[in-house]
Amino acid sequence: MVPVVFLTSHSDPETLEDAESARPYGYLLKPFDQRELRTAIDLAFSRNREEQRVRHWAEATLTSIGEAVATADDQGLVTFLNPAAEQLFGIDRTDAVGTELSSAVRLTPGTAPITADLLSPLTTGDEMSLAGHAVETGNQTIPIEGSVAPIKDGEGQVVGVVVVLLDISDRVEMEERLRHEALHDALTELPNRKLLLDRLHRAVARSTREQDFQCAVLFLDLDQFKSVNDTLGHEMGDRVLVEVASRLARCLRMTDEVSRLGDDLVARLGGDEFTLLLSGIRHPADAIRVAHRIQDSLRTPITVESGNLVMTSSVGIAISTGDYERAEDMLRDADTAMHNAKRSGKAAYRIFDEAMHTDLMQRLDLETALRNAIENEELVNYYQPIVALSSGSVVAVETLVRWQHPQRGIIPPNEFIPLAEETGIVVPLGLSVFRKACEDAAKWSDDLPMLRVAVNLSARQLRQTGLVALLEHEIEEAGLTPERLDLEVTEGVLMGEEERFARTLGELKELGVQLSLDDFGTGYSSLSYLNRFPFDTLKIDRSFVSGVTVDKSKAEIANAIIALGRGLGMRVLAEGVETEEELAYLSGRCDEVQGYLISRPTPAAELEELLARKGSLVP
Ligand code: C2E
Ligand code: CA
Ligand code: CA
Repeated sequence: MVPVVFLTSHSDPETLEDAESARPYGYLLKPFDQRELRTAIDLAFSRNREEQRVRHWAEATLTSIGEAVATADDQGLVTFLNPAAEQLFGIDRTDAVGTELSSAVRLTPGTAPITADLLSPLTTGDEMSLAGHAVETGNQTIPIEGSVAPIKDGEGQVVGVVVVLLDISDRVEMEERLRHEALHDALTELPNRKLLLDRLHRAVARSTREQDFQCAVLFLDLDQFKSVNDTLGHEMGDRVLVEVASRLARCLRMTDEVSRLGDDLVARLGGDEFTLLLSGIRHPADAIRVAHRIQDSLRTPITVESGNLVMTSSVGIAISTGDYERAEDMLRDADTAMHNAKRSGKAAYRIFDEAMHTDLMQRLDLETALRNAIENEELVNYYQPIVALSSGSVVAVETLVRWQHPQRGIIPPNEFIPLAEETGIVVPLGLSVFRKACEDAAKWSDDLPMLRVAVNLSARQLRQTGLVALLEHEIEEAGLTPERLDLEVTEGVLMGEEERFARTLGELKELGVQLSLDDFGTGYSSLSYLNRFPFDTLKIDRSFVSGVTVDKSKAEIANAIIALGRGLGMRVLAEGVETEEELAYLSGRCDEVQGYLISRPTPAAELEELLARKGSLVP
């Protein structure tokens, strides 16, 4: 008889089937000699140890990985859960094994169109992504990503499925936060411009499609918010904005009776500008009703540290009855109407209408024309002499820009500087004025090496990054000493942004240019202004100069300003001197004068003639 040994990994190797199942470990089914048997046993045990090592590692890996792993057999019954799966599904492995996979892993479609069938790989034999799905555990829904794949045996037969899932709640939360942040204002948590425009696009599109569908935009700007910021500080300013935001949101919640869609929202566009979108109003009067409600809601004082504050707002309304194609146009018209409300005395509302439209179109035309004017060099520098009262001679000139329009002739700056300021055109415009002023100043250097050339600087320019370096470059290019240049900044410009502008003006001062505070007396006229900024010259606004000899209160103000400037060691200049009486009054009080009495602003060539005349310009 030939002895046969079944060598298996099982402890009870009695049947051939057992031996069969032990195939991976190697078995021997033949007569053997002692040595062969020894070798076979050694081989089998070494394989077994290797296998154990692999198994051990596999198990440790499944225990340690963050992915939840669950397996089920070909009947869809759970065979295994790793600890991450136990945690994610909120069940114990011992309870889960043997139960239906679909009850252990409770999938919901999440953002996917339908819930995936975890057992479908049993029939398809293919792996399937579970992207977009979530799992439900207890009362939580946890977003996941992962897949379910078939488990195949040695012959490629599908014997079960393995589900591998990763809890991605953190990532989803982060994405949601980012999405929220992208569409909301950080301070008030209100929707921002982007979200508003999104909704407005929808509403506008609908109003063009549906005959009886109207929507309205209310553009709201707080009156005098700047001075709240100024006097109470930015922190208080922020608090006021948050309070206003919540009141507006409350107003909107009360609009249910006027608006038919859930698309309404209140957004903060930045600063103290808010917008309400009412979609599906029945009548323009509905929008006006809401405007009234806003004004009412603001009437309740807001409590701040120093007491109570009553805010008012100017509201502009644009209504679409299907005549708008772009959300941006509607927003722009509401903005225009708001500015009209503001001009009409604040705490008011205005509806955008035909006249405003015409006005707006003209403005847009002007804007285009102005941009072209810079390119076509239609802007010319005029200069107005400034005379020192001590000597009667011209010590400086102020650069005043003019637009030499090919059809309309000379256009004064008041007709285009405000628009240039609003649109930002003033930045390139101002630079070109400054450049020409430097060139002219250089031309006059031989005859008048000390002549100061003053140039007006707008708020936009002051805010421009790199302004100081830019001006320095221009001065160098022209071969001037910086002391020859005098930059005029109006008092109003500084309001609200003192800190920032103090820094910029400090840098300009370091560059070596001179600084003048323009139109003094029309803004805050506070001592702290003068202290904080390095101004060399104080220009008394011409509203106090013209009539100073006939109007007592004007004289008082002018004298106070002069005393202020003197006290701080500044040069005091009176602009707008038109009569001999005014000149006489100011002599001995001020250092310098400027005005029609001496000369109107003139082109460079005429100024040169005037300067060549030498002699005293003071009558
Ligand atoms: P501003 O800086 O206060 O300039 C003085 C204005 O007063 C000038 O008006 C000047 O012509 C006018 N003026 C001078 N003397 C008299 C007088 O005796 N009586 C009267 N009634 N007016 C007098 P202009 O040239 O029309 O300029 C108006 C404003 O436009 C300027 O006011 C300034 O704010 C702005 N501006 C002019 N040029 C520029 C520029 O290049 N850049 C910037 N940013 N603004 C400019
Ligand atoms: Ca000026
Ligand atoms: Ca002025």
